[in-house]
Amino acid sequence: MNHKLLHIREAVMHPIFTQVGEVADDLGVECYVVGGFVRDFLLKRPLPSDIDFVTVGSGIQLAKEVAKSLTGEPKVSTFKTYGTAMIKYDGLDLEFVGARKESYQRNSRNPIVEDGSLEDDQNRRDFTINAMAICLNKDRFGEMIDPFEGVSDLNAKCIRTPLDPDITFSDDPLRMMRAIRFASQLNFEIDTTTLDSIKSQCERIDIITKERIVVELNKILLSDQPSVGFGLLKETGLLKRLIPELTALEGIEEIEGKKHKDNFWHTLEVVDNMAQLSSDLWLRWAALLHDIGKAPTKRFDKKIGWTFHGHEFVGSKMVYRLFKRLKMTLGDPMKRVQKLVLMSSRPIVISEDYVTDSAVRRLIFDAGEDLEGLMTLCVSDITTKNPRKQNRYKRNFEIVKEKIKEVEERDRIRNFQPPVSGELIMKTFDIGPSREIGLLKEALKEAILEGEIPNEFEAAYELMIKKAEQLGLKPVKQ
Ligand code: ATP
Ligand code: MG
Repeated sequence: MNHKLLHIREAVMHPIFTQVGEVADDLGVECYVVGGFVRDFLLKRPLPSDIDFVTVGSGIQLAKEVAKSLTGEPKVSTFKTYGTAMIKYDGLDLEFVGARKESYQRNSRNPIVEDGSLEDDQNRRDFTINAMAICLNKDRFGEMIDPFEGVSDLNAKCIRTPLDPDITFSDDPLRMMRAIRFASQLNFEIDTTTLDSIKSQCERIDIITKERIVVELNKILLSDQPSVGFGLLKETGLLKRLIPELTALEGIEEIEGKKHKDNFWHTLEVVDNMAQLSSDLWLRWAALLHDIGKAPTKRFDKKIGWTFHGHEFVGSKMVYRLFKRLKMTLGDPMKRVQKLVLMSSRPIVISEDYVTDSAVRRLIFDAGEDLEGLMTLCVSDITTKNPRKQNRYKRNFEIVKEKIKEVEERDRIRNFQPPVSGELIMKTFDIGPSREIGLLKEALKEAILEGEIPNEFEAAYELMIKKAEQLGLKPVKQ
């Protein structure tokens, strides 16, 4: 192997590296820091709190000895099947693994593992930029081993597999997702041969568990410009296998000279806009999925042109099936995404006419604690390149925002608590839990949202007596 001898002692200034090196020296084994830590150091990115050590020997034994040498003797978690061990120390996750050689069978990403040299270990790593190692043993402290020119790929912002990509990806197809995830996180390009290999093997993604795929999807969504990752997922054919609801949005149709926008590329713009405004993962999912109902609801009408009637409702139903298929949570985050998709057009629709107080009160009531998120989704949704339209949308949006503030100050609809409680209704008419209570409460809520009465006790009490009378209820003497 032919490579320049490079020293980067600055990377390993933290006392933990000297400490691990000394323990390795005592055991008489080679030891290196490898992978993400080295990459992120060279990129001057915030250093990761997980640090990977590889030793030409037993990773578990090294971890145990390191733990003994550290103050407080932290616990070692060992994973015998993988020959790895982990120590949590001083806010760091220290991962130890013995250098190994891997060989794969066709239908599984679980390799047959044997002990190997550092070179074997570097060969099994996913990308050149992740295969750099820095020696920690005293006599070679800070020496960098970069057999695949990872440093020059870092400078060229290039993602490339160390070996033949067809083999690397076929061995472990998750690496295809990782390539795209790193491209999105680091804003790198994927080398053409590597990219072509992903395209030709995209169906191999089917052997990867959904959970692992979602970890990568989330990392792409959380990157600064998720469109880079999702664009690559589409280009390689992976997206069609993972989220066909999105690829179904691609394309522009034209009938009788009328076109609609390409909702796939529009969606990616919305996600990028959202990424500028919020780092909330679920808001980003909502941005990604806000238009998925448009593919199944698309119609052409001779008079009005293209329509997507009810796409928000259809889309929110699709969210459930999509989360379920990807084995994602079906709890509160999913419900939040559903609600945001369902309501995604509301703030804009109400801004198109004269903005009435009651429409705003309903919006506040229905959105509840997701109001801010919904408003963020709506600004993100403005992607028109026509400056006149863009100005109009933004102005309308500001009007709605102002109105929300004004109505909220006056009517306190947020976290709406009915001014007359169920208990008071029961006491007033001397009735037990019954259908009538629900009806009365609903009537009061409607009257407040419609602006027929203010959100106050006196007015609500009076209306309750009136409505109850229509139901045949009379107040009992107190
Ligand atoms: P991050 O922590 O930001 O996800 P990382 O590069 O540290 O990035 P890890 O998943 O922590 O990624 O893995 C640590 C190292 O292990 C990687 O840098 C890479 O060398 C190697 N690695 C991880 N997963 C794979 C894989 N599926 N195939 C080959 N090598 C891998
Ligand atoms: Mg890492």
